[in-house]
Amino acid sequence: MVIVGGGGHGLATAYYLAAHHGISDVAVLERGPIGLGNVGRNTTIVRSNYFHPDNIRFYDLSLRLWEGLERELNFNAMVSQRGTLNLFHTEAQRDLFTRRANLMRLLGADAQSLDREQVRRRVPLVDLDNGRYPVLGGFLQPRGGTVRHDAVAWGYARGASAAGVDIVEHCEVTGIACAGGRVTGVHTRHGLIGADVVCLAVAGHSSHLAAMAGLRLPIETHLLQAFVSEAVKPLIDVVLTYGAGHFYVSQSDKGGLVFGGGIDGYNNYGQRGTLPMAEEVAAAAVTLLPGLARLKVLRQWGGVMDMSMDGSPIISTTALAGLVLNGGWCYGGFKAIPAGGLTTAHLIAHGSPHPLAAHLSLTRFVTGRIVDERGIGPYPYAH
Ligand SMILES: Cc1cc2nc3c(=O)[nH]c(=O)nc-3n(C[C@H](O)[C@H](O)[C@H](O)COP(=O)(O)OP(=O)(O)OC[C@H]3O[C@@H](n4cnc5c(N)ncnc54)[C@H](O)[C@@H]3O)c2cc1C
Repeated sequence: MVIVGGGGHGLATAYYLAAHHGISDVAVLERGPIGLGNVGRNTTIVRSNYFHPDNIRFYDLSLRLWEGLERELNFNAMVSQRGTLNLFHTEAQRDLFTRRANLMRLLGADAQSLDREQVRRRVPLVDLDNGRYPVLGGFLQPRGGTVRHDAVAWGYARGASAAGVDIVEHCEVTGIACAGGRVTGVHTRHGLIGADVVCLAVAGHSSHLAAMAGLRLPIETHLLQAFVSEAVKPLIDVVLTYGAGHFYVSQSDKGGLVFGGGIDGYNNYGQRGTLPMAEEVAAAAVTLLPGLARLKVLRQWGGVMDMSMDGSPIISTTALAGLVLNGGWCYGGFKAIPAGGLTTAHLIAHGSPHPLAAHLSLTRFVTGRIVDERGIGPYPYAH
């Protein structure tokens, strides 16, 4: 079989197929070098503090896999469970977060409510009384945190390769071969490769690749930026998110503050980003943490996101027999890499969905049983 895309999900799927199911006649085809897509461009946050019960279960499976990943791969992925802290600024938001925390605890995930004093002690830098949106408290997931992104790509690649998978770099897929209503292989820049099963794990290029097989997906491609500041001494020991704007920040082991915001808001395949969003992120940053105004931004970059129409991912068979889709990861596919790989491999090996990923089938867009994580309908800019 062929997996298109040497990002986190493609490499993890290959690893679990070979190492857990004994299916090693697998090639991962990557158009560039592995790990230079979104898996190496994200802000490395992992957590399972979702709202939809099925998503909590899925992302908590991923968090449990992160907790054992370094042992499983024998690779240092710098898994750091420093906690993720979401701040809230209104009573309505407090209610929403309390409901979410209670649901998470009922489903076996961890969540705590913090009052203003506890937030102040945890992150003294936060301007709790800022004039625009004073902070009322926080919602902490202690098991959340960060993982070193390139190490994830390289750890899964090494594990897959050791289990017999072929990883072929600089091998762009240019077409999907099919006959009699089923997939028969892929056309690449180096020629045709026959395969019984083809799995698309190309993140922001999902609609593009699916169109080669005649399929139209409920996915739009958008651009998401990230930023890193100059290195400073330890300042923030948690992943912090702002509740009155889209801004999140953590500190890397090198000392840089890694932060980001929302998508640029229109369809885009460039890996750069635009100035208006950079300004919006900077404004949110200094509203919450005025001390950051004195830091210099060292680097900025962008990645292409496969935004689904309900804000939840897709792990599914398709109308073309033998063609499997792993995509629609929106903002949040890094944290999902272990669970995404494990459940996509399960789907391919058993021909039926993994119980914790059954809600992520493509058919939900036909039946209307969508998994609308934010409850705001088919508007990627609002997810
Ligand atoms: C700035 C930014 C911040 C983010 N922050 C977070 C975060 O903090 N936490 C979180 O959970 N998620 C985050 N994400 C989202 C996360 O990075 C993605 O959802 C996830 O990495 C996507 O899955 P992937 O790793 O398989 O994708 P990718 O690494 O993009 O892999 C897809 C691969 O497919 C290849 N490809 C495309 N077309 C072809 C073709 N025709 N032939 C062969 N290969 C092809 C690409 O080259 C690429 O390497 C962030 C993303 C960005 C951009």
